[in-house]
Amino acid sequence: MNKKYKDRNWLYENYVEKEIKILELAKDCGTTTDTIYHWLDKYQIPRRTKKAIDVKCLNCDKVFKKTYAEIRKGNLNHYCSQKCCKEL
Ligand SMILES: [Zn+2]
Repeated sequence: MNKKYKDRNWLYENYVEKEIKILELAKDCGTTTDTIYHWLDKYQIPRRTKKAIDVKCLNCDKVFKKTYAEIRKGNLNHYCSQKCCKEL
């Protein structure tokens, strides 16, 4: 089994810079996606997520996308921009 996923530089280079999917990395290393996630977390490498939801700005009614990553960060304000947030 190839343990290169334990190398932070390798993870960062492939996952963040080359944007290779977790599943591909896991296959490449002969391990599971759970293991790759475990090491990403361990090295505090932020996970990519393309999942986004439509949110309507409470100030200008503009509909915009918010990713789960942003929402998880506690960024729950439903405003399209800092400017709208401050206007209320
Ligand atoms: Zn707005």
